[in-house]
Amino acid sequence: MSKTRPDERAFHRLPMLAESKVALETCTFCPKLCRTVCPVSNAEPREALTPWGKMSSAYHLGRGDVVSADAGLSSEASDPVGALVMESSFAKVAFACTGCGACKHSCDHGNPVADTLFRVRTAVTKAGLAPDAATRVLASFSARAEEATARARVIDPEPERDSQRSAPRAALVVGCGYLRKHEDEARAALAATRALAGRDVHLVGGCCGLPLLHAGDEERFESHLGAFVERLEGYDEVFVVDAGCARALRVEAPARKLGAGKVELLVERAAKELHALRTLPEAETRGSVRYHDPCSLSRGLGVVAAPRAVLTRLLGRPPEELVKSREHSVCSGAGGLLPATHPSIANDAARAVVREHDREGGGTLVTACASSLGAFRRNAPEARVHDLVTWIARGATRP
Ligand code: SF4
Ligand code: SF4
Repeated sequence: MSKTRPDERAFHRLPMLAESKVALETCTFCPKLCRTVCPVSNAEPREALTPWGKMSSAYHLGRGDVVSADAGLSSEASDPVGALVMESSFAKVAFACTGCGACKHSCDHGNPVADTLFRVRTAVTKAGLAPDAATRVLASFSARAEEATARARVIDPEPERDSQRSAPRAALVVGCGYLRKHEDEARAALAATRALAGRDVHLVGGCCGLPLLHAGDEERFESHLGAFVERLEGYDEVFVVDAGCARALRVEAPARKLGAGKVELLVERAAKELHALRTLPEAETRGSVRYHDPCSLSRGLGVVAAPRAVLTRLLGRPPEELVKSREHSVCSGAGGLLPATHPSIANDAARAVVREHDREGGGTLVTACASSLGAFRRNAPEARVHDLVTWIARGATRP
């Protein structure tokens, strides 16, 4: 074993993790108070997949302990191929995180596990240790963004910038998840935004760049997000539907000094304009309607009252609740690229939420995030799963 004191050993294998030393040490030497809340280790109960396990793996990997015979953790140091396999397996667990924030929320230290693991992803990508699934996401990102732009122009053929127009315009960032996979919801979002804003609203295509961060390319994410923020500067109001995009614009962009301007979630505008929403006819709202809080919206942005106010107005009664809701909500398993890097764990996590919905009486499950919507529909095709945005559109626009 090394004779150096643990707190004096450097992150010589992944030096960029030195900035995350405190967060990594806090988890590594913790009695794991958050272990029951992680959707990943709940779906696949392995110690390595708990928040503690993921952070400890990164800690040891970053310091070069994994292939150091001196540290006593492995005897692979003399075998370069074995060392690479060993390090890659430690690196992969950093990708077993949806970024749901449940561990941070239940941690006495508020330790930023997800943000740290996203940073670890960039470090392991630079070191050539990233899993293939993440590498594929990075390679296909430009095509994904282009596809989202093309889909947006099908829904709203108006070009992005029209120098002939003198009037200021409003923009809607619905999110590439909706544009690529949920066209009906994207169309509903545009109709609802136009009705609530009472003006022309332009549907913005492309992607905010969040998949780049989740796949392990922090620098490319920053430059893509900066360009996306710049595109939005020509609009005097910016509405956002997907909570992941809203978080990128409201939290990630200012944290990187990229600016972000005024960004309003559509559900927040709807909650402010409840008078503009009609209560839907009883025939359309019969049975249980249960709301699932997407992590990026509830823990990520603290938006828990607005969706309930909107649903209460539309239904004429409060929505039903899952056992764990609001800031304690359970992740659908669809974030942080988990469906790409660990598909069976992601599917199990989604099914666990739908099972709880069934245990509570079933009915309609309403969520407010393109990734969760897709995960629930894929994993429980028999369940009735809607997005909040289609309900807002029904209430905001006349049939
Ligand atoms: S997130 Fe907090 S409670 Fe969980 S292992 Fe890390 S330090 Fe411990
Ligand atoms: S952010 Fe969520 S998925 Fe990631 S380690 Fe924490 S609880 Fe698990």
